[in-house]
Amino acid sequence: MRQPLVAGNWKMNGSRASVADLLDGLKAGIGRVEKAEVAVCAPSVFIPVAQSSLQATVIKWGGQDVSVHTSGAYTGETAGSMLADFGCHFVIIGHSERRAYHGESDEAVAEKFTAARAAGLTPILCVGETLEEREQGMTESVVARQLDAVVKHCGIDVVGEGVIAYEPVWAIGTGKTATPEQAQEVHAFIRGKLAAESQAVADKVRILYGGSMNPKNAVELIAQPDIDGGLIGGASLKADDFLTVCAAAN
Ligand code: PEP
Repeated sequence: MRQPLVAGNWKMNGSRASVADLLDGLKAGIGRVEKAEVAVCAPSVFIPVAQSSLQATVIKWGGQDVSVHTSGAYTGETAGSMLADFGCHFVIIGHSERRAYHGESDEAVAEKFTAARAAGLTPILCVGETLEEREQGMTESVVARQLDAVVKHCGIDVVGEGVIAYEPVWAIGTGKTATPEQAQEVHAFIRGKLAAESQAVADKVRILYGGSMNPKNAVELIAQPDIDGGLIGGASLKADDFLTVCAAAN
């Protein structure tokens, strides 16, 4: 039985004051969440704030990206060991915004997956197609290509130590959610692909859905057999909305 996971992706949002309020709200309401593991992935500067606020709670925290390098002259980058040093449990890898705006290739994403594991972090690997790709019937081939790059680089057992997030690019931040059936179809495809390499990995890996998941649609999405929780952007910025999504797994 896979424990559901709901992770917030705050992206580049927040201030010292708003983050403190959000964390207080999460701590006050986390009792509503019975089943899901809950995490927030914060901008790097707020990770120490998350650590000091959440360390005595069940809520975990993480980063939104990691360098492929371990240390040295890489201005602006953050090493996995640094995230681990501040108690991060998770790190998002290969988010579509990083692939699109920072030119991250499938191979670079695979290297980041390895770097995260080497630092003891649990990578949340994002995969997903654009609207154009979906309309051309390429959803499965795109997701397969993104997944294969990581399996080839890290090996299936290391992939099994992470989490996968299916995030159709056309649903991220747009208010357009994949229907539960559309999402389940791709999640089942991903699990089937993992099973072709290792049934044990396919059985244990959590596959999250991400893309405008919110308090209104979370129950139906998480009820799908291959949807093991969510990666939540916009709705993770309001404590009550985020906790309602987390409680959808109850
Ligand atoms: C995301 O950025 O990972 C995401 C799913 O965003 P949103 O929930 O806002 O669509």
